[in-house]
Amino acid sequence: MIRYQISSANPVNHYFDVSIHIPRPDPDGQRLRLPNWIPGSYMIRDFARNILDLEVRSVEGELSLQQLDKSNWQVEASTQPIDVSYRVYAKDLSVRSAHLDGSHGYFNGTSVFLEVLGLSDQPCEVLIERPPVALAESWKLATSLPRKQADPYAFGLFEAADYDELIDHPVEMGNFERVGFEACGVPHDVILTGRFACDLERLAADLKTICEHHIRFFGEPAPMDYYQFQVMVVGDGYGGLEHRASTSLVCSRDSLPQVGQDQITDDYRDFLGLCSHEYFHTWNVKRIKPQVYQPYDLQQEVYTPLLWAFEGITSYYDDLALVRCGLIDQAAYFELLAQTITRVARGKGRTRQSAAESSFNTWTKFYKQDENAANAIVSYYAKGSLIAACIDLRMRAESEGEASLDDVMRALWQQYQATAPGVKDEDIQQLVNLYSGADLRFELEAWINGTSELPLEELLAGSGVTLNWRAAQNQSDKGGKAIDGKLPAVDFGAFVKMSGNGLEIQRVTEDGAAQLAGLAAGDALVAINGLKIDQARLEKRLALAAAGEVWTVHAFRRDELIECQVTLQAAAPTTAFLTPTEAASEQRNSWLGSL
Ligand code: ZN
Repeated sequence: MIRYQISSANPVNHYFDVSIHIPRPDPDGQRLRLPNWIPGSYMIRDFARNILDLEVRSVEGELSLQQLDKSNWQVEASTQPIDVSYRVYAKDLSVRSAHLDGSHGYFNGTSVFLEVLGLSDQPCEVLIERPPVALAESWKLATSLPRKQADPYAFGLFEAADYDELIDHPVEMGNFERVGFEACGVPHDVILTGRFACDLERLAADLKTICEHHIRFFGEPAPMDYYQFQVMVVGDGYGGLEHRASTSLVCSRDSLPQVGQDQITDDYRDFLGLCSHEYFHTWNVKRIKPQVYQPYDLQQEVYTPLLWAFEGITSYYDDLALVRCGLIDQAAYFELLAQTITRVARGKGRTRQSAAESSFNTWTKFYKQDENAANAIVSYYAKGSLIAACIDLRMRAESEGEASLDDVMRALWQQYQATAPGVKDEDIQQLVNLYSGADLRFELEAWINGTSELPLEELLAGSGVTLNWRAAQNQSDKGGKAIDGKLPAVDFGAFVKMSGNGLEIQRVTEDGAAQLAGLAAGDALVAINGLKIDQARLEKRLALAAAGEVWTVHAFRRDELIECQVTLQAAAPTTAFLTPTEAASEQRNSWLGSL
């Protein structure tokens, strides 16, 4: 059996030391390779650039090694067992790669474990050893990787059924906090790394509620016999990556619940939404997955138009589950849904790119957004979750409450359990037709592959909810709330932020006031009508201005002073908020309350 071994002679240098013992290498010369991307994060990351000191030996001595490309190597032919050794530089504090310092270690297998070609479908062992230095003496270890000879939360010997499993269980080591709970009989752990204060019991109770909702949604038993939430707590951060029996998360310490605090703060609600999202992926994308991901080709981009479904439907259910299981009330859910509607409505990109195109081009567009992104692309997360809402509400209306998107998701799960066929491009549309009992193909085609507006207003009205529009209060207004009082009548057409450069334009709206006047991202605003400007003064002036008013704006572009005449435009009503209606309250409650 192949045995991987990983440790670190000195974590403060950020190097993991890795070795692989291969008892029976390919007699024609063993090929080795490292993934170029990690499932769930659709960008080529070239993890192999962090490999150093790669060597291969047998009992006869060092073997020669030929590098074939950025992530592939060919070892000289050997009839003897071989030992591969190398170091991995680990200083990326994200959920996608590896990080190691004097406070903790974290890695994804995609960053540290070379694949032994020809033996990828064979079981393997992994010995994870405590770094032999004083600072790591109290370190524990957390992973969902199956244990072979290791106590719970201890270093030791682990095993994986194949390479695909080996790289799907991230590992955390350090002095983390832990709280456990059971959901539908399955043990779960929350592992928290970093400096923070948290009401761990409350966090565990709330996560248990969410996990049990998702397990019962798809139907017991759960597809895993253990699950781990790995949370890196930092000053300011947000993100997650899904795995088959765990998720890695980054959150801000302010988003954790405090002892004695009963309310759900907006930040804690967002964190629970993130946990709900990643946990829903345990079914949707980790098991139910696009056919083209079976298996993953981790050497190059794999294209699918379906991320609107795998990320969008997951995004729809992440918040919906919070209201369905009673963690938030309907008003709080409407706020979250209206924020998503606002996010899509504000970007001109929605008129240029469909959700399917956004999915397909994720590698070069969604994951490589620049200052023009809002004008050029639409998010398959946000638009996808609105498409999911439209499908759900349309199915409910068509079937008089008998069928919904829930049925489609359960059917996909049953298909997976039967034969794991992989989801083809048209499968979801066909299931929607089957369960709703109507031919919705043309509508779905327009929503998924088109750029016209979604019929949210009409569908929400039928479910007892009014979709209202207003102007933005200021540039930090994310939408979702009704505003008492006067709103600005004008729009400057630029998003600004204080930077080392001054009040810098981060992005401009296409055909907005700033762009039409010749201003661009990167310009640092200096004065308006001859008076010095900062963010607070700009907002104050905008609150009092009238459409058509012309401002003389001075700005620095690079180190050159420029002057522009900006004609303020009327503020567009692209900020959404939702209110319940008297009518159709039964439909609304069945949508938001039912499993
Ligand atoms: Zn996701």
